[in-house]
Amino acid sequence: MMNCALCGVRKASVFQPAKRRALCKECFLEDVRSRVRAEVERWRMIEPGDRVLLALSGGKDSYVLLESIALYHSPSKLVGLSIVEGIPGYNREEDVAALKEVAKGYGVEIMVVRVKDFAGLSVHEMVKEARARGSPTSACTFCGVARRRIMSSVAEELGVDKLATAHNLDDEVQTAIMNILRGDLAGLLKLHPLSKGAGVRRVKPMRKIYEWESATYAMIRNFPFQRAECMFISEHPTLRARLRGELYRLERESPGALLRALELLDELLVPGEERVERCSRCGSPTAPSRSICRLCELLEELGMRSPPYTTSPLLSLRGSDRGGERYAP
Ligand code: SF4
Ligand code: ZN
Repeated sequence: MMNCALCGVRKASVFQPAKRRALCKECFLEDVRSRVRAEVERWRMIEPGDRVLLALSGGKDSYVLLESIALYHSPSKLVGLSIVEGIPGYNREEDVAALKEVAKGYGVEIMVVRVKDFAGLSVHEMVKEARARGSPTSACTFCGVARRRIMSSVAEELGVDKLATAHNLDDEVQTAIMNILRGDLAGLLKLHPLSKGAGVRRVKPMRKIYEWESATYAMIRNFPFQRAECMFISEHPTLRARLRGELYRLERESPGALLRALELLDELLVPGEERVERCSRCGSPTAPSRSICRLCELLEELGMRSPPYTTSPLLSLRGSDRGGERYAP
């Protein structure tokens, strides 16, 4: 076996096809962390003194995000958010406890918000209610819309400067192609690291890290990431699943293809200010084409006209000056 292309000393064990080189485990971990740092700095995703909310699902990517940012930015400026969807067998108490334990090792506190507390129904309950009403809305739609809203609500309530998610390179390229196929320019522009939406700026420090690299990193580090599959995985958008497979094959035939595609989009796209309207019911930011936001719309279909939309009791620690009236329907 050959030696690591970087240190030249240890045995190489991780091959990076895009760079046609093999690294030892230590140099591979450092390579991933330094590429995360480079991407953060290139787009000024996190600046000194920034308070950052890390959205952590408990999956492999979220552990890699946690470690690479905690080793880069002062942990006292970081807070983790774990959202419990309320799906049997998925993201269980012990998964959340494992995440908290690892985060504690870095001095990062984890806030836990349950979809049921926020929206009045867990994701599983939303799906059951939808089926009972004959609605075809998929579990992943309820889940994704609720999670995105909780992230931005918590970020706003905590008054952080940035909201970081653990999307990897594969996720980003899949989303870009889906937007292209739909002809959704606004969606495509939103992917640009400098795009400005409403509320707290969202950043994706791992957007240039391949999914396999993230998985390998988590495995080498022996992180207790969640391995259970969600029972609704089959409802995941089929286009995304197909693209995932196709892109994987393409990358194998032409190493570096995904990276080149995203680099090209970074150069090509010119993000502007996104036009934002407010939901007439809950006041949260929404697309200009809507009068009520997607979450209010989805919950109304389930017969819920005034969801709690509260991330308390944690946030009530900050005083009741904002939350209450702001989120009253
Ligand atoms: Fe949510 Fe769908 Fe993922 Fe399950 S598979 S966690 S329902 S997005
Ligand atoms: Zn709303």
